[in-house]
Amino acid sequence: MLKGIAASAGVSVAKAYKLETPKVVIENTTVADKAAEVAKFEAALEKTKADIEGVKERAAKRLSPEELAVFDAHLMMAGDPDLAGQIKATIENDGVNAAYATDAYATMMVNLFESMDNDYFRERAADIKDVTFRLKCNLLGLEIPDLTAIAEPTIIVAYDLTPSDTAQLNEFVEGFATEIGGKTSHSAIMANSLEIAAVVGCSGVLDAIKTGDVIALDALDGVIEVNPDEATIAAYKEKAAKYLKEKEELKVLVNEKSITEDGHEVELAGNIGGFKDVEGVLKNGGEGVGLFRTEFLYMDSENWPTEEDQFQAYKQVLEGMQGKKVVVRTLDIGGDKKLKYYDFPEEMNPFLGYRAIRLCLDQKDIFRTQLRALCRASIYGKLCIMFPMIATVQEFRDAKAVFEEEKAKLIAEGVAVADDIQVGMMVEIPAAAMLADKFAQYADFFSIGTNDLIQYSMAADRMSQKVSYLYQPWNPSILRLIAKTIEGAHSNGKWAGMCGAMAGEPNAVPILLGLGLDEFSMSATQILAARKIVKSLSYEECKKLAADCLDKDTMDEVLACVKAAMA
Ligand code: PEP
Ligand code: MG
Repeated sequence: MLKGIAASAGVSVAKAYKLETPKVVIENTTVADKAAEVAKFEAALEKTKADIEGVKERAAKRLSPEELAVFDAHLMMAGDPDLAGQIKATIENDGVNAAYATDAYATMMVNLFESMDNDYFRERAADIKDVTFRLKCNLLGLEIPDLTAIAEPTIIVAYDLTPSDTAQLNEFVEGFATEIGGKTSHSAIMANSLEIAAVVGCSGVLDAIKTGDVIALDALDGVIEVNPDEATIAAYKEKAAKYLKEKEELKVLVNEKSITEDGHEVELAGNIGGFKDVEGVLKNGGEGVGLFRTEFLYMDSENWPTEEDQFQAYKQVLEGMQGKKVVVRTLDIGGDKKLKYYDFPEEMNPFLGYRAIRLCLDQKDIFRTQLRALCRASIYGKLCIMFPMIATVQEFRDAKAVFEEEKAKLIAEGVAVADDIQVGMMVEIPAAAMLADKFAQYADFFSIGTNDLIQYSMAADRMSQKVSYLYQPWNPSILRLIAKTIEGAHSNGKWAGMCGAMAGEPNAVPILLGLGLDEFSMSATQILAARKIVKSLSYEECKKLAADCLDKDTMDEVLACVKAAMA
């Protein structure tokens, strides 16, 4: 039995598929029959083109035309006569093997393109790497994992899953287990939005499991069993059925209000990464979107997304939410979130470095493009904008000023912009929580990002397993920062929400309610369970519970207090 972190609820028993990138070893050998080697190369090139076509076709079921564009770029490159011509010439002139000739071509072209200080050419370098990697694998008989080809119930086992890996997951993938990551790593966030089970940070999982093993993935308790016996399989299947039944029973709450038994109403919203998650929020009774992580738009793109691309994306989400509130977070990139087309500066501690609003205020063109797109989309729904990683009042004022400038320019150009866009901020740096009463004079609302707030308060990297015990949402120090944030908002007539993972934790809901949190934003799949809890609680009792919890010494004491109150 392996232990990891339950990151996205669910239980599944299925065959494992180990996601491993093949290791390509190139040898500098000569060939006796050059013509045969050229023929071998031509066959491998045809297979490469067919493989890319196949991946594109299967991915088309889930990806948008923009997301599919990368495959067209790869097909164009594979069909480029210069590529075939140069590699064949190397085989014929030097008598080397085809894989070696392909590798030499790739190295030369990648060096050439990467040396050019231009985004377009850097992208081409990435395309060449991708296409020639496929070609070399085909020449050497190595298989490249193709997640889109999975056609039976499967659990993926990987070191970690990148956003492009998760984009390829189809309906047969019932869950995944990864070697690294925590509750708030991005693969965990994706699993929640796809509603599949995930156990992350499961050290040793890659060594313990091979493709084809039957595994029981229990993402309620964070355990994995490899090749369990029949009785164990039956027990897990029963657990899965019970979980699904409970999930089904919650559906009666879809259209109900989130109101305590003594009449205190709060808002339960969903976190999304893009339009594809909107349906899940509505289906699960979300009263709005409390966090739209726009970085996925940038991370899934081959270059900085244009104003028009972004406008379409925001409009689609606002329309999809049918007039319900949508809180869009401006670009939160850096830390663990990188872009293919932008080189971040080397830093010792990227999580403490050049990221999010810091980058946007430094490179205002990027920021302005996003704000213009948002303003233009604002007439299609109820838009709120928030800035991530705000540390100082000056940063908020500067960011808000850029927003006002772009809004005014658009209006001067005759473009319609809604006049009720709320502009708020994430509270995810302790400095902002401490000064919440001051920030609330400028911001229309707060959304508490506990994933970062906890890592910065505890000085514990959210990606590190070794210090994951310090991810302590129930630590009184964290509760006091949250209380201070909510008080700061309310004393200025503003509202306070939370979009970090803590908002959806059943054992946190009563305390947060008692502290006066107005909006809880979580994974869509957690909304109904949270509503059931809210409806079972008394606001007056929760206020007392929260006051007790703020006065405890440790997280365990707080949890004991909550459990006693809920018993
Ligand atoms: C947070 O920090 O709590 C948050 C919601 O933002 P992210 O997880 O995207 O950093
Ligand atoms: Mg954050």
